[in-house]
Amino acid sequence: MRAACWNGKRTIEVQDVPDPKILNSRDAIVRITSTAICGSDLHLYNGFIPTMEKGDIIGHEFMGEVVEVGHSVDNLKVGDRVVVPFPIACGNCWSCRQELYSLCENSNPNAWMAAKLMGHSPAGIFGYSHMMGGYAGGQAQYARVPFADVGPLKVPEGLSDEQVLFLSDIFPTGYMGAEMCDIRPGDVIAVWGCGPVGQFAIASAYLLGAERVIAIDRFPYRLQMAREKAGAETINYEQADVYDTLMEMTGGRGPDACIDAVGMEAHTPGVVGAYDRAKQALMLETDRPIALREAIMACRNGGTVSVIGVYGGFIDKFPMGSVMNRSLTIKSGQAHVQRYMRPLLERIENGEIDPSFVITHRMRLEDAPRGYEMFVNKEDNCEKVVLKP
Ligand code: NAD
Ligand code: ZN
Ligand code: ZN
Repeated sequence: MRAACWNGKRTIEVQDVPDPKILNSRDAIVRITSTAICGSDLHLYNGFIPTMEKGDIIGHEFMGEVVEVGHSVDNLKVGDRVVVPFPIACGNCWSCRQELYSLCENSNPNAWMAAKLMGHSPAGIFGYSHMMGGYAGGQAQYARVPFADVGPLKVPEGLSDEQVLFLSDIFPTGYMGAEMCDIRPGDVIAVWGCGPVGQFAIASAYLLGAERVIAIDRFPYRLQMAREKAGAETINYEQADVYDTLMEMTGGRGPDACIDAVGMEAHTPGVVGAYDRAKQALMLETDRPIALREAIMACRNGGTVSVIGVYGGFIDKFPMGSVMNRSLTIKSGQAHVQRYMRPLLERIENGEIDPSFVITHRMRLEDAPRGYEMFVNKEDNCEKVVLKP
């Protein structure tokens, strides 16, 4: 089959690889009909996630048709159309029973690698390094889906791929980011980053009852999407001081909750930015936490900082004094996608949201290298790329 492979930093190539096979009785093989490039893939692309190997098949947002099932999978049959959640979860362990699916204790065969870096290991993830399980990803013609009796969601007829594809990741991720804010009537939520994850965080904050959502980025077309499609007020951080503007907009109190939908590769203007860029380049810190620092400093006393942007390792100049003295709560996580797929599918079916609004580019799988280039450089007003195998 054909698959997009990581062949080194900033090198994605579509090449011939062996077809996946059923390895376990709870596996299914899915013929992929739609797959997307995620901001998390950019961290792989830019070489910030350790334990990638040349030839690794990437991609973790995908859906398609079941073409084979292992003998223990009795909820799916050949021909079913499914969306596959990006964290791989067994459904039976302690974490899975708490619905903390991205922390499944059975799905990462290389848990020791992640535990070395993080103390304990999270779940395995499709196409996301050997430390995260070494699973082949979904930017390919076919994928092996482990624990297929737990993860994949059957798609009702009448919904297009584009309407449901993002149940695999970014819609649940944005929704969880907003849910972690414990939104109450009247709340003002600020969202750093107007990438696809930021857009769903904004939209979800409204679904959960926020009164105002203020979104921050620097790309005018992304800010425009945040205003026109997701309904946010916006701040362009290249034109205005974010902290001062947020204080003005909230009567000096600060937003009730702040969502970091940027993560470890924040764009870094100014002196502090140069400091983080230099430290990251020298491997003295692994991540550039500019947006996170800003979110913490701006949040109102007693508020919540919800971190859904991905961080890989260690950060510097973390304002713990602000967190502690001002009674802030920090919540975070890779999305527990399996927990949100069904309720969010219902919202799509009810017409409360059409997630396809973020798609700006549709390409063939063969053009994945170009898709990565456009997405990473924000060329041609690129917001989200969907690939068709
Ligand atoms: P993206 O690269 O399209 O979006 C990131 C946005 O952040 C860009 O628009 C960029 O301009 C903006 N940005 C950069 N620096 C900023 C700053 N200092 N202040 C404000 N905005 C800034 O990526 P995406 O697909 O939207 O993903 C965003 C993050 O979410 C990534 O870190 C990704 O890994 C993470 N993610 C997490 C999960 C999860 O389960 N927690 C799932 C999917 C993606
Ligand atoms: Zn993702
Ligand atoms: Zn589990």
